[in-house]
Amino acid sequence: MSIPPRIGFIGLGIMGRAMAMNLVKAGFQVSVYNRTRQRTTEFADAGCQVAATPRALAKMSDTVITMVTGPEAMEAVLEGPEGLVSAFAGGNTLINMSTLPPEYTAALEKKCFMSGVNFLDCPVSGSKTAAEAGQLVILAGGRKETAERFSPVLKAMGRAVVYAGPSPAGTSLKLCVNLILAQLTTALAESAALARAQDLAPELIFEALALNPALNCGYFELKKENILKNDFPPAFPLKHMLKDVRFMLAEAEKRKIPLPVTEAVEGLMAKSYNSGYGEKDLTVVLRNLTEPLG
Ligand code: NAP
Repeated sequence: MSIPPRIGFIGLGIMGRAMAMNLVKAGFQVSVYNRTRQRTTEFADAGCQVAATPRALAKMSDTVITMVTGPEAMEAVLEGPEGLVSAFAGGNTLINMSTLPPEYTAALEKKCFMSGVNFLDCPVSGSKTAAEAGQLVILAGGRKETAERFSPVLKAMGRAVVYAGPSPAGTSLKLCVNLILAQLTTALAESAALARAQDLAPELIFEALALNPALNCGYFELKKENILKNDFPPAFPLKHMLKDVRFMLAEAEKRKIPLPVTEAVEGLMAKSYNSGYGEKDLTVVLRNLTEPLG
């Protein structure tokens, strides 16, 4: 990358805040926009320009990165007189890192193409801790040359980039990876619920898993404290995983394949969401197994 890009970053939530700060720490010129302006203060303090609108951000950048919740938030930052699209300029680049449906991503890539804007879909695998440590695994879709050109930017936020193919391949891969995560989470919660019901300490599950090289998974260790303390501070909020599970099911329906276990996971996560737990970490599904409603 001969001339370093002027990066505009949109979405300073749990993940975006850490990712944008890692770009600043890596020495990139970063400007930011966030709907709730209060979240931009630490970036202003770090010397970043703060834009009042997505359009203003696009005007001060040649590369925009989005890390927002989902399609509705993307529409809000893309469209309208103050939206990103109104400032699209040929040769610029949009890198979306939010988890979106593949179909939406494909349409966005097309919209960018029509305006001469390069596009990459680069959702991430890894949660808050990995984002803070710059250890995300970035799942990249788009033109290979573009992905390679932006590798220094992506590597400032992650430990590795997995190139999946033309857009929306990064997004499609992200759904496959999150399918495993969703099922691992509910498996962990059901296992803990069954242990408690049998008067077993759930600690024993973690001990047995850790001692078996075939089952010693870092994710279990990451979520151990939540399960054991019955406390679910948000790292990956349940509402986001429920959104992703619904993207998986929509994609499966479109392609006419059954995902029966993922359907059951959706049912449990929806129940938990409807219990008012959407903002908590996704491991909160345990509550709906140990404290059944009604
Ligand atoms: P988050 O903490 O909820 O932050 C969401 C961001 O989107 C905030 O900056 C929020 O702005 C913005 N936003 C939401 N609705 C908006 C709207 N209508 N207009 C403009 N901005 C809007 O979410 P997160 O955990 O960082 O996740 C971001 C993305 O990464 C999601 O797609 C998620 O699925 C994915 N992801 C998350 C994790 C994780 O562990 N958390 C891991 C991998 C991938 P405000 O500050 O104004 O609310």
